[in-house]
Amino acid sequence: MFSGKAVKRALALFLFSAFGALQAQQIDLLIQNGHVFDPKNKLDTILDVAIANGKIHQVANHIAVKNAKKTVDATGMYVCPGLIDIHTHVFVGSTPGVFADGIYSLSPDDFTFRAGITTVVDAGTSGWRNFQKFKKQVIDQSKTRVLAFLNIAGWGMTGDSLQQDVSTMDVSKAIGMVEKHPDVIVGMKIGHFEKKTWEPFERALQVVSDTDRPLFVECHLPQYSLEDQLDRMRPGDIITHSFENISERRPVVDTTGNVLPMVFEARKKGILFDVGHGGAGFWFNQAIPALEQGFWPNTFGTDLHRFSMNAGMKDMLNVMSKYLNMGMPLKEVLLRGSWNPAKAIQREDLGNLSIGADADIVLLSVKEGKFGYVDAAGNRINGNRKLEAELTLRAGKVVWDLNGLTATLFQR
Ligand SMILES: [Zn+2]
Repeated sequence: MFSGKAVKRALALFLFSAFGALQAQQIDLLIQNGHVFDPKNKLDTILDVAIANGKIHQVANHIAVKNAKKTVDATGMYVCPGLIDIHTHVFVGSTPGVFADGIYSLSPDDFTFRAGITTVVDAGTSGWRNFQKFKKQVIDQSKTRVLAFLNIAGWGMTGDSLQQDVSTMDVSKAIGMVEKHPDVIVGMKIGHFEKKTWEPFERALQVVSDTDRPLFVECHLPQYSLEDQLDRMRPGDIITHSFENISERRPVVDTTGNVLPMVFEARKKGILFDVGHGGAGFWFNQAIPALEQGFWPNTFGTDLHRFSMNAGMKDMLNVMSKYLNMGMPLKEVLLRGSWNPAKAIQREDLGNLSIGADADIVLLSVKEGKFGYVDAAGNRINGNRKLEAELTLRAGKVVWDLNGLTATLFQR
């Protein structure tokens, strides 16, 4: 006779193994033998990664193949969290000559996955007046996770007098929009404002203070001194176009080639510096001395738009490859591609391979050869390494597969 206790134990064991078997069958994709680099979880070694139901299911030394519906051999590749580009313009629409709802913005999925990106943050292309249109038209239509810094200008980047109209910069309306979409709007953006008043800056700061989010400062605004801007920014706020060198803005490296002390001071205070490459925002004569003097960007925001992608910027992996060839160690480059931007936008659920997280993953290879990298001034550096996205997964789905790693080999 079995005691009641023994029966219970047998039943528990049976349920446990049945559950185990169920668990074991759930692996949709098994990535084997890749070099997993996940700074949040301090993983930096050869491991297997199992994906089930769109989530990270297991990360371990060796995961049994028999439990996987499909396997990918990632030998020689880096397995990283999907890249996060915190500076893009993706409110694409049909309006000629503008970014907001216009043709200068880009459709995210067309440009992200091939560069290993699974999340973008739109940098204030919309404001509180047209954010919902942006959401309906682009965010809800994209497989890329699209987040947003809301522009303090109500109509976003219209490029005309509307963008300069302080009366559209309504603090309570902007707060209302953030509160309505708290999981999409990650902060506020101030930029492209040409008048003398600090009013837009102050209003944007008020919104982010009330909603506990970072302020994204696009441009060292020409009418404000860099010093005054950095002074007003709070720890965790982000300044972009960090290595720009154009006449109307003050560069971070002075004419003798030294990084300005106030820039180091701002970093010490906790201000984050984004690359914001764009069409004009990245100059080797700033970025290389800054790198040599230990002033490294926190994130590789690209300032993706119609013009930058066809010039020196190209895509985020190209910007990351530039830094690799400028001398930044690979692991530092990869850190700035996913985990750093996740922290910058206060979304620590992203940019990592924690069990249960969305399976946003990129398999990267480092190609060797002769490559050229161009800045906004038309200067080139030569390099011998280039990062390439072999496979991109968004919530466990294959969204980019350069060499058909997940495809079936054709046989006659
Ligand atoms: Zn921009």
